[in-house]
Amino acid sequence: MSIKILTDLCTGCGACVDRCPFGAVDLTGGVAVLNDNCTSCGACVRACPEKAIEQTKKAKKKPAAVGKGVWVFIEQRDGAIDPVALELLSEGRKLADDLGSELAGVLLGDGVESLCTACFAYGADKVYLMEGPVFRYYRTDPYTDAVTAIIKEYQPEILLFGATNNGRDFAARVAVRIVTGLTADCTKLDIDPETKLLRQTRPAFGGNVMATILCPRHRPQMATVRPKVMKMAEPDYTRSGEIIRCAGEIREEDVTTRIMDIVRSVGHSVNLQDAEIIVSGGRGIGGPENYRLIEDLAGALGGVAGASRAAVDAGWVPQYRQVGQTGKTVAPKLYIACGISGAIQHLAGMNTSEIIVAVNNDPEAPIFSIATYGLVGDLFTVLPLLTAKIKAYKEASADARKEAV
Ligand SMILES: Cc1cc2nc3c(=O)[nH]c(=O)nc-3n(C[C@H](O)[C@H](O)[C@H](O)COP(=O)(O)OP(=O)(O)OC[C@H]3O[C@@H](n4cnc5c(N)ncnc54)[C@H](O)[C@@H]3O)c2cc1C
Repeated sequence: MSIKILTDLCTGCGACVDRCPFGAVDLTGGVAVLNDNCTSCGACVRACPEKAIEQTKKAKKKPAAVGKGVWVFIEQRDGAIDPVALELLSEGRKLADDLGSELAGVLLGDGVESLCTACFAYGADKVYLMEGPVFRYYRTDPYTDAVTAIIKEYQPEILLFGATNNGRDFAARVAVRIVTGLTADCTKLDIDPETKLLRQTRPAFGGNVMATILCPRHRPQMATVRPKVMKMAEPDYTRSGEIIRCAGEIREEDVTTRIMDIVRSVGHSVNLQDAEIIVSGGRGIGGPENYRLIEDLAGALGGVAGASRAAVDAGWVPQYRQVGQTGKTVAPKLYIACGISGAIQHLAGMNTSEIIVAVNNDPEAPIFSIATYGLVGDLFTVLPLLTAKIKAYKEASADARKEAV
């Protein structure tokens, strides 16, 4: 559909301006004029008392914009690549292969050329490299300016960012500068076989539905993905690629922020995201004093203790231990969910774990539908037994090793 304003009938009353939900009508020279925000929804047609606005069927759709290649922003700090960039390169490789296209990294920093080797090993064919002291530390303005300039010059089809603090901060700004869409926190990315568009899937409406979002008319198609959502491929260090040096015109004196000092946080934290074994407790633990059952089992297994949001919201467990949509996304080898029902928001943070064990006294609990092994029972009975068995097994193995020596 398209909207046409019949200027000879328009009296400039402004009814359409008030009614338009997208702010797409302006009054210019005493008549209504549409701007780029118009979605052809037709609200203005119904609002016009003079019948001066028509909605007509569009003969032709605006052609899809085109671009070339799948790009991944390579976030680095102190010369080390953030693992999420390598996860995205691994995923980007599959997307590029499905499109019959190339995969490129976009790397900014000061003296970071050596990082290109890892980018190639994880699947990149090219790296667009912009270096200089101005990029030594992440700052919103120079990074936004630089990435925007590289996009304008080379015009990618798809651009992926890690949903880290920095990625979240500047991916949205880049999207606005380039006038394209951005789908945040995607949990799945794939290529539509017919249209070749990027299907960007993410939880919506409080996690109650999975929405697949397309960006058909603007380029690049942009998405952020949280760490640990995509699997990191095995690197192949025999691969190599092309480094394209991009000349930056960004000068330190034009940047409004200065980094005076960097103070590393020494607050409480646990490395849930890199843990190979996680034991999490939910509302079923019944109170903060019982969280030690979770910690004991995690300790016996050499793992880390996590929690559901219900346990965190109840004030039983600190927030930094929360797993799920609004907590950490984890993908350990073993995830043991104890007294956790399996709400979609919890699953969004752990359902790519290799082995999932659920302990729950309700055999109908949704967590069992994704569990590799399910233990239907009271966690106050099951967990101490499991912990004791594992400790006994470890001691017996240690004794056997000693004897063998
Ligand atoms: C926008 C949004 C974001 C959210 N983000 C997150 C998130 O990041 N992480 C998250 O976890 N949730 C999140 N939630 C909340 C989520 O919807 C659930 O409310 C929450 O995960 C429930 O936690 P739970 O499974 O511990 O509690 P419940 O759903 O109450 O389940 C408790 C389970 O314990 C079992 N149980 C009880 N007693 C025992 C016992 N003695 N032995 C064994 N089992 C027992 C019960 O059968 C039940 O299955 C979010 C919600 C929204 C709307």
